[in-house]
Amino acid sequence: MDRKLGVYVCSGCGIGDALDLDQLCGVATKEFKVENCKTHSFLCGEEGAKLIAQDIQEGTNVVVVAACSPRAKMEVFRYDSSVFLERVNLREHVIWCHPPQDEDTQMLAEDYLRMGLARAKRAEPSEPFSETIDKTILVVGGGITGMTAALEAAEAGYEVCLVEKEPALGGWMARLHKQYPKHPPYRDLEDTGIDAKIKQVEENAKIRVFTGAEVEKTEGSPGMYDVSVKQNGTSTDLRIGAIVQATGFKPYDPGKLEHLGYGKHADVITNVQMEELAAKGKITRPSDGKDVASVAFIQCAGQRDEGHLPYCSAICCMTSLKQALYVAEQNPEAESYIFYKDIRTPAQYEDFYKRVQEEPGVFFAKGDVQNIAEDGGKLSVEVYDTLLGEAIAVSVDLVVLAAGMVPNSMPEAEPQVDVEAGEGEEGAETVILPDSGRYATSALHLQYRQGPELPTLKYGFPDSHFICFPYETRRTGIYAAGCVRQPVDSAFSMEDAGGAALKAIQCVEQTAMGNAVHPRTWDQSYPDLFMQRCTQCKRCTEECPFGMYDEDEKFNPLPNPTRCRRCAICMGSCPERIISFKDYSVDIIGSMIKAIEVPEEDEEKPRVIAFLCENDAYPALDMAGINRISYNSWIRVIPVRCLGSVNIVWMADALSKGIDGILMIGCKFGDDYQCHFVKGSELADTRMGKVQETLQRLVLESDRIRVEQLSISEYEKLPQIFDEFMETIERVGPNPYKDM
Ligand code: SF4
Ligand code: SF4
Repeated sequence: MDRKLGVYVCSGCGIGDALDLDQLCGVATKEFKVENCKTHSFLCGEEGAKLIAQDIQEGTNVVVVAACSPRAKMEVFRYDSSVFLERVNLREHVIWCHPPQDEDTQMLAEDYLRMGLARAKRAEPSEPFSETIDKTILVVGGGITGMTAALEAAEAGYEVCLVEKEPALGGWMARLHKQYPKHPPYRDLEDTGIDAKIKQVEENAKIRVFTGAEVEKTEGSPGMYDVSVKQNGTSTDLRIGAIVQATGFKPYDPGKLEHLGYGKHADVITNVQMEELAAKGKITRPSDGKDVASVAFIQCAGQRDEGHLPYCSAICCMTSLKQALYVAEQNPEAESYIFYKDIRTPAQYEDFYKRVQEEPGVFFAKGDVQNIAEDGGKLSVEVYDTLLGEAIAVSVDLVVLAAGMVPNSMPEAEPQVDVEAGEGEEGAETVILPDSGRYATSALHLQYRQGPELPTLKYGFPDSHFICFPYETRRTGIYAAGCVRQPVDSAFSMEDAGGAALKAIQCVEQTAMGNAVHPRTWDQSYPDLFMQRCTQCKRCTEECPFGMYDEDEKFNPLPNPTRCRRCAICMGSCPERIISFKDYSVDIIGSMIKAIEVPEEDEEKPRVIAFLCENDAYPALDMAGINRISYNSWIRVIPVRCLGSVNIVWMADALSKGIDGILMIGCKFGDDYQCHFVKGSELADTRMGKVQETLQRLVLESDRIRVEQLSISEYEKLPQIFDEFMETIERVGPNPYKDM
């Protein structure tokens, strides 16, 4: 690329008062020999913007804006894709949190400009990946969630293929007698409306329905999936852009709840069986067909129990309330006892709870049901820890277990694992990789090197970022919705369906523009591999959280660019340092490190580099600036796409240059991870072991490197983290490589 650099330094927002801008511009003009370096008092104003636009018109193609945070004024400093833009954060990270007209503040600003210029000298504008993208949405699962997702996508103008494994659409909703109220005044049972929904789907010209069908094979990547659907022994090949998986749930196996007598006593049934009895027209005892005059509903039959399902299944309280009304409607003299841990009826559902409390034959009792025994033709329900403080026993005709939900993505068997090779045994439906958790049972049959289904979290739900990205899975372009994602009722499932359909639409549209999907939706860069130096170590293939790389028989990574989320974790993982993006590479960040001026040891001005995740930690530092929270000015911040993208060679670069310490601040990891790229911050933490080896090789103290976790709202903690780290650096002393 033929570079013509323009450097634009803003003196507004107090920058000109706090810094010596002539000296700052000298960094660009004298050290970096930039011919065009201008200052302006209001760079984001009309005149300032025109100044830059004019230069671009005259051939400037690399623009360095030294002003506010790159997260501010994005709409002003936005240029077409042929121009590379570098933002140097002088406002939030320099003058708003460090004293004005101060030597250290000035040195900080100059280093930031040096680092920005170093990047601007190497980075290039990205060229979008362009292929013919298909925008058809595949929805797998024809229950309420799948049908709603299909309708939402079709109504937005997209072609949809809907695959349901049962012979008819409808899912669980089609098996319900009635549904609990979804409309004001939230007192009366309602028809499910499922027939009308099915009709709507079947009559929609944009939706192609496959019932009694299964996805045989899914190959390819977003915008370019080749999906094979098998129906009545015949396979149909579909070209698909994005996928919504809405495969629902199955009830928890009540046979595992021995103390509740399911399978032992014929009159202990599940809430699903109760629904079937009600739908037949009359609720009778399965054992003898006699009328039912008393029923016990046992809530949390397995749910919120570490030994069974540790989570709440969301629908069972409302379902039992509804079924108690079935009993009352059938026989106003009948008695229903609802034994609960807590009754959970969120939002307006509370009105229905109150309505059922008004019913004279419905009784509520908090307590632990510990045994159910035959009692002269009836069932005796023994309840302990009641509010009365004493055990009670109630004799009933029928017991209904409010069974919980198990997502249909829960692996059915323990994974068949060859951890070393990362491959399943022949015929196995599930595969596990050392770093990827478990895989769902078959719904999509992905032809991915990483496994055939969506990776799941410990309870079998395909994971998604629980705060920011609710429908995302670890397979780009595949979105989970409804009960396969989390326990939800039909109302929430429909909301989920809309959300997931919208995500699928965003995916095909962004992909068609050559953009990444969430969270870097503007990003047109993608990894470029210099394969001549690849050692086939498989690290990129295994550490990419999104399964971007397939592999050939010699273990060469085979990229699928539209699966990539541009986190650059693979770049951090590659020991050969051969994975690069046009604007983000080992070399580019390495040059930024090298651009930092390290004072001589006797100047007693230590230098620390802080690699900050651009998703949480970097904006948190902006927040610290906005709140004028001051912190140590010997720290130089380098934003990274994800902490997982930090290549350990940067540690060696920094330490051998005389940098005294390195901080890495990323998102929280663990079960409730907040890492935008699932496991980047955790990987960075794991790689610490390797960094320590590097330190030992360099005869340096391991305390010089630290990894911290921080969420965006914890900006007040940053100065404390910095101060503590600086104290450590003071204790271990200057880097012995400093003056070499
Ligand atoms: S950038 Fe991230 S998503 Fe893309 S291939 Fe590398 S690790 Fe995977
Ligand atoms: S990590 Fe680097 S060297 Fe290893 S397989 Fe991937 S590209 Fe090749």
